[in-house]
Amino acid sequence: MSDRRKFIKLSMLTSAALLAGKKLFANTAPDPEYKYPVVKDAAVVVSTWDFGKEANAAAWTVLGTGGRALDAVEKGVKVPEADPNNQSVGLGGRPDRDGKVTLDACIMDENSKCGSVAALEHIVHAISVARLVMEKTPHVMIVGDGALQFALENGFKKENLLTEKSEKEWKEWLKTSQYKPVKNIENALPGGKSNHDTIGMVAMDSNGNMSGACTTSGMAYKLHGRVGDSPIIGAGLYVDNEVGAATSTGVGEEVIRIVGSHLVVEFMRQGNDPETACRKAVERIIARNPAAAKEVQVGFLALNKKGQYGAYALQEGFSYSVKNGKVEEVYQAKSVFSSKKQ
Ligand code: ASP
Repeated sequence: MSDRRKFIKLSMLTSAALLAGKKLFANTAPDPEYKYPVVKDAAVVVSTWDFGKEANAAAWTVLGTGGRALDAVEKGVKVPEADPNNQSVGLGGRPDRDGKVTLDACIMDENSKCGSVAALEHIVHAISVARLVMEKTPHVMIVGDGALQFALENGFKKENLLTEKSEKEWKEWLKTSQYKPVKNIENALPGGKSNHDTIGMVAMDSNGNMSGACTTSGMAYKLHGRVGDSPIIGAGLYVDNEVGAATSTGVGEEVIRIVGSHLVVEFMRQGNDPETACRKAVERIIARNPAAAKEVQVGFLALNKKGQYGAYALQEGFSYSVKNGKVEEVYQAKSVFSSKKQ
């Protein structure tokens, strides 16, 4: 092939690629309405489940006084982490099948900086370790013994996270050792207790900056070393300061498979309001495996740059808590399936 023909062929290929690229870009470009629409003094915090209400109140001590969303979400989720009666987060969390309490957590700020720990033992405030990973290391994620070592080297105290109550329940569970992570809607444990929950919190401060935090002891009686969606950036939490933020709760495996929180944010980028974006992510789970989706719970919660929030779940029973200058409420998320509809 002559040089000239080679050149023409190359330019044709390049133009085609450029055209395809342009089209692709046009399809995924942010809706102009969602680009940097900083709403002044629209501070707001939302978090998963009804126990989020107390966590929101703690976050509000930062947001309500003009503080940074990042500080607010860390302070907020530390409340359930320190609560021994909350058996799905931090101290008192239900252990894995070997009796070990292992925590997963992540945090993300308005500059897309993020930090995460997974399968961390003996440290109550996993979220603060995740923040330190973000701020003090060139990494995003540290797991297991390495995460513990990092925490201890940075002054965190080694504690026993297994409370008497959680230990007693685990020993009861050992009698049958029924490991059914799939059939896992709200009342899976004996006595009607949920065997999973997480606090995911996203917030916007009065400067219009967004951050998020997510922390959990994960699925009760999971295999030792199992990591769910909660510490995985994009799955359990995602923050895009141009568009919005999202977090999730429920069976982490399902969330990871669709990279759920990132998907919700992308749906918002396409112009969907937060509730619709969450519903579309839930529908993605159903589309992937309709039969499995009926048996598990997943809930998404989202906040956009206008300060609008919304949630959606697979099953009824997912609640979320909201706090801003006007509202301090717990809402029930809509769901695709309900005991009545099924
Ligand atoms: N998403 C968490 C996990 O899979 C648990 C939960 O939110 O219920 O570890």
